[in-house]
Amino acid sequence: MSSIRHTAPLAFSISADNQLLIGGLTATRLAARIGRTPCYAYDRALITARIAELRTVLPPDIHLHYAIKANPMPAVVQHLAGLVDGFDVASGGELKTVLDTPMAPAQMSFAGPAKSANELQQAVAAGIVINVESERELRAVTAIGTALGIQPQVALRVNPDFELKASGMKMGGGAKQFGIDAERVPAVLHELRTLDLQFIGFHIFSGSQNLRAEAISEAQEKTLALATRLSQHAPTPVRLLNLGGGFGIPYFPGDQPLDVAQVGERLAELLPAAQRDLPLAEFVIELGRFIVGAAGVYLCRVVERKLSRGQVFLVTDGGLHHHLAASGNFGQVLRKNYPVIVANRVHPETEPELASVVGPLCTPLDVLADKMPLGHAQEGDFIAVLQSGAYGLTASPTAFLGHPPPLEVLV
Ligand SMILES: *Cc1c(COP(=O)(O)O)cnc(C)c1O
Repeated sequence: MSSIRHTAPLAFSISADNQLLIGGLTATRLAARIGRTPCYAYDRALITARIAELRTVLPPDIHLHYAIKANPMPAVVQHLAGLVDGFDVASGGELKTVLDTPMAPAQMSFAGPAKSANELQQAVAAGIVINVESERELRAVTAIGTALGIQPQVALRVNPDFELKASGMKMGGGAKQFGIDAERVPAVLHELRTLDLQFIGFHIFSGSQNLRAEAISEAQEKTLALATRLSQHAPTPVRLLNLGGGFGIPYFPGDQPLDVAQVGERLAELLPAAQRDLPLAEFVIELGRFIVGAAGVYLCRVVERKLSRGQVFLVTDGGLHHHLAASGNFGQVLRKNYPVIVANRVHPETEPELASVVGPLCTPLDVLADKMPLGHAQEGDFIAVLQSGAYGLTASPTAFLGHPPPLEVLV
């Protein structure tokens, strides 16, 4: 049991024959169906259940958006089109993916620094909301709107004057490449009056991967206050306030799941005052990993069980070229093990052994699990890296060493 203890609560069920069940299929059956390993598999029912959980705990007036960079697989995005209220994209490529869904363009927004003229043109022509990151971008969008004869819909991305505490990745506060510094925003709103644009509102995203409800609530409270303050300089009433997201998921031993119900309760207390101050505003929370992270596994196969000076290595066909985050090289300071299990022997039959799961690359960085308690795995067994539904394949250097990319399936 110790190999799975720290993943609690394990999102996936276990079959009667002790296998991980993904989309109702055992790991063995799924791998046979896909035809090869390694692969990423995302469980449709788990994604649906996650949205239902969020709908239950968040105030009903909150609009829920999916930030697709967490997992842009087209089938996943299509599935979510029927479940969330909007999509947030950060490139022309992501824009194409969401425009292929039935979601209304008015419910989509485009953030990110250094948007190209071509991307801005696509966004204006699509009629989506552009989260403008700088004064230069504001002027570029205006010129594109004039050239196309379309009035662009613009929200200002604000770099807030506070941080999201205890966050895995800080995206706002202090000096940042994202957004317009809050103290500059009144002047920018003033300039906006002279431009042929439709001002929609504000986008304030302070951070990512946060497991502390109090920290998220505190940031939301400050975000609402900041938006209310800035709205006094706006040319027209605020119709959209994107509060960001930052809801984290547990990856490592000792991580406690975010108390999302507590976040929802606190937001329900804060929202009425904000709705009084910004009566026409739609309030949006944008989430990526919280929606898809726990619903995905990376599945690879043990090619060789190797003993080196007493240490067990499970040499697999999968590695960091497919799953950089699990190797500890995507934003981690100290390497920690992702939740990894032997997918066809979930509950170890005997006392777990310490084993390292490594990949096929000629680099010592290619480690998926380092001296981790695992059931005794044999050649041909399946290894599953859990919590892999977000920032997996598309956050990995697939070209490194020239192995084929993994398949992705939604089951
Ligand atoms: C990356 C990003 C998100 C999603 O972050 P998660 O940690 O996956 O929830 C949301 N909004 C913006 C602007 C982002 O850049």
